[in-house]
Amino acid sequence: MPQLDTHGLNSDWHARRLAATPRGVAVLENFFAARALNAELWDVEGKRYIDFASGIAVLNTGHRHPRVQAAIAAQLEAFHHTAYQVVPYASYVRLAERISAATPGHWAKKTAFFTTGVEAVENAIKIARAATGRSGVIAFDGAFHGRTMMGMALTGKVQPYKAGFGPFPGEVFHAPFPSELHGISVDDALAGVQRLFKSSIDPKRVAAFIFEPVQGEGGFYPAPEAFVAGLRRIADEHGIVLIADEIQSGFARTGRLFASQHHNVPLDLITFAKSLAGGMPLSGVCGRAELMDAPAPGGLGGTYAGNPLAVAAAHAVLDVIADEGLCERAEALGGRLRHRLNDLRATVPQIAEVRGVGSMLAAEFCDPSTGAPDADFTKRVQTLALEQGLILLTCGSYGNVIRFLHPLTTPDAVFDEALTILGRALQQAQQQG
Ligand code: PMP
Repeated sequence: MPQLDTHGLNSDWHARRLAATPRGVAVLENFFAARALNAELWDVEGKRYIDFASGIAVLNTGHRHPRVQAAIAAQLEAFHHTAYQVVPYASYVRLAERISAATPGHWAKKTAFFTTGVEAVENAIKIARAATGRSGVIAFDGAFHGRTMMGMALTGKVQPYKAGFGPFPGEVFHAPFPSELHGISVDDALAGVQRLFKSSIDPKRVAAFIFEPVQGEGGFYPAPEAFVAGLRRIADEHGIVLIADEIQSGFARTGRLFASQHHNVPLDLITFAKSLAGGMPLSGVCGRAELMDAPAPGGLGGTYAGNPLAVAAAHAVLDVIADEGLCERAEALGGRLRHRLNDLRATVPQIAEVRGVGSMLAAEFCDPSTGAPDADFTKRVQTLALEQGLILLTCGSYGNVIRFLHPLTTPDAVFDEALTILGRALQQAQQQG
């Protein structure tokens, strides 16, 4: 039998981790996973947790969905690597067909697969540059697009992602992202783009805008439709490619397969990853066929890009989303959570805003007397919830937002249990404050 490392003491593994791995690979929890199923996870000492982090938005279909497991196992019996660029396989082609058909817009599309989210982002920029012959890219404050050099350049949050790693690729600029709570209107955000055209780059040199339909790491701020429509207008005026980064918001999280489907605005390219393959590393770019064909043969790809096991998992994930009605489930669970959080505002005045779309929901915490972002309160809620067995993630430029990324397959009883823990943690954090 292979060694699975699912036993031992958390404290022993913690000490070995500190000695064996660099501190830059920081971990949120001080316990080590042994086993997981759907929305639950057990550590090496047998303690149970409800997992509302979902491996950072990857497990919309839960841990080890039986259909995802079966698809991977079946593919494993056939072959598990050829390098698609050497010996192609039909499942990749069929997945490209499915994604092109499922993304918003009825024009001719093509899809390419990669491995991590940031690789999809890198490739979307490469495609936009190849198609336009231009170099500039405009991203937005608070955005997160990944940890490679271009990913960091596009990311609009310095700590901890960019500090100490520059210089980054040039010709990348940031405009404000709209946030009502922080006093940035859609007009302010669009004016910020026009200001860049005056101060920093000629629009005729801009290849692409890249934005998140719901900002993820930045704090779960939904992009208002008027903002996306405004970007579309500016993009059309100057021949700029409009890219939506759906890496965190995709695959039913917001109640639609893609968050962009909440907007009636045509997009040129979409990047996706995370929940596409239920935990197997798979990402991709889908977009207008003429743009996707701009890079010359050999310009796109990667040794592991579109790995067959991951592609098999993705087919199963798409089937599960459809067959189990996970878009509707995202709306239902999100509605219940939103309701509970809004109820709690009566006794927990630190809840400054409950926002999001479907099950891509977050609560932002501010000091009720000053209105200042309250990262300490947020951390307390996270710690108190964890002590009671609920894993939660924070986000936001000020670290004062808790985001909820429960599997959309979470059973009602487990979801209710999590809501009870959450309510208790909020009350306790309020009493300790
Ligand atoms: N874009 C967005 C919107 C993301 O949320 C993330 C990951 N949090 C990435 C890109 C990068 O994905 P990965 O970590 O898989 O490279």
